Amino acid sequence: MRVIIIGAGVIGLSVAWRCAQLGTDVTVVDPAPASKASSVAAGLLPPSGDMLLGQPDFARLVLHSRSLYPAFTTELARAAKGPVGHLRNGILDVAYDPQAAEGLDRLRQMADDFGVRYRMLTADDCRRLEPLLAPGVHVGMLSPDDGSIDPRTLTRALAAALRNADGHLVTDRVEQVLLDGTTPAVRLADGTVLHADRLVLAAGPWTHRLPGLPEGLVPEIRPYKGQVIRLHAENHGSPAVRHTVRGSYGDRAVYIAPRTDGELAVGATYEDSGYDEQVLVEGVADLLARVRRVLPAAARMRFVGAAAGLRPGSPDGRPILGPTAREDVLLATGHHRAGVQLTPATAEAVSRAVVTGELPDYARPFSPTRFASTPV
Ligand SMILES: Cc1cc2nc3c(=O)[nH]c(=O)nc-3n(C[C@H](O)[C@H](O)[C@H](O)COP(=O)(O)OP(=O)(O)OC[C@H]3O[C@@H](n4cnc5c(N)ncnc54)[C@H](O)[C@@H]3O)c2cc1C
Repeated sequence: MRVIIIGAGVIGLSVAWRCAQLGTDVTVVDPAPASKASSVAAGLLPPSGDMLLGQPDFARLVLHSRSLYPAFTTELARAAKGPVGHLRNGILDVAYDPQAAEGLDRLRQMADDFGVRYRMLTADDCRRLEPLLAPGVHVGMLSPDDGSIDPRTLTRALAAALRNADGHLVTDRVEQVLLDGTTPAVRLADGTVLHADRLVLAAGPWTHRLPGLPEGLVPEIRPYKGQVIRLHAENHGSPAVRHTVRGSYGDRAVYIAPRTDGELAVGATYEDSGYDEQVLVEGVADLLARVRRVLPAAARMRFVGAAAGLRPGSPDGRPILGPTAREDVLLATGHHRAGVQLTPATAEAVSRAVVTGELPDYARPFSPTRFASTPV
């Protein structure tokens, strides 16, 4: 079976790797592989968050992906013959006032419901775990089995694993999706036409804009901009922060994800500003203020850089997975704020749907057919 995947972010690459392992002849096409949201994300892998409130199907998907993560990254490291950037260093949530503590209480209740291991902490416990935290912690919570992953290392590993499994990565832009024949095809910017038995659209917020798609086949995927900054704490030795930290005060929050090389990814802004991918002074200034509130020592760290990316948001904010009304055209997109978290489950579910035509149970609520505008 020949499979073409449009888009080489975490989603397209991971689905491709699993498809190659299932014995398909798979080609991923992207003019700039792993350069968009998938290279910008902070890569937090939290067990719970407000986006799961009152969303049992989504919580099931997230928890399934969480359960796959350790084996997924172990297998990927072996297949890529290199690092994957996964740190199970524990997620430390710290609330600096009663309002923020209410948010932590919601997380605690979710952890109870989901059977996730956690420990509530006093201010002293938090400072013992992370001495550089600002004083004045109200309450803390440690989820010791969770952590984060560096998406740039992850995408490098996925591309290597894909190559090692005899998959192909073509660096070019899909200019036209061709759905007139009995099987799908794509025309690339250099004029080449590639034919497939199955076509997977994983082009993030550009998915519905791919030229040649019939009206209504793909719902609109809106871009939600996010900016992150990267710091390095050479003057504190490495690492300055051992846990993946989420700090909150009032209705504001910041997260700090340490990388294996000692760098800290700090995020993130959330903006509804179309396809603008620029890093702006106000975004960087906002993140610097937030991180200094929680980690004053950040002021003495080296500023490594800043980046912006576009989270792909579906009409209901949930991922869109599996066959469209045209069975040989599948979607793997709309992961919004959770694409890195949902990578193992998406790769498993969509590769299985490519080969068998069926989504596993946990992924069925995310079929494209749930959108009324999609012809069934
Ligand atoms: C600031 C920020 C922080 C985030 N933090 C987290 C986090 O902590 N945890 C988490 O789980 N998620 C996080 N996310 C979300 C996560 O990054 C996304 O959900 C995920 O990267 C989406 O991956 P993707 O492969 O679908 O899309 P993308 O990474 O956007 O990849 C789509 C690809 O399609 C390609 N493409 C577009 N048009 C064409 C064409 N015509 N032909 C060929 N290819 C094309 C693009 O070049 C691109 O490489 C964050 C996102 C941002 C922006």
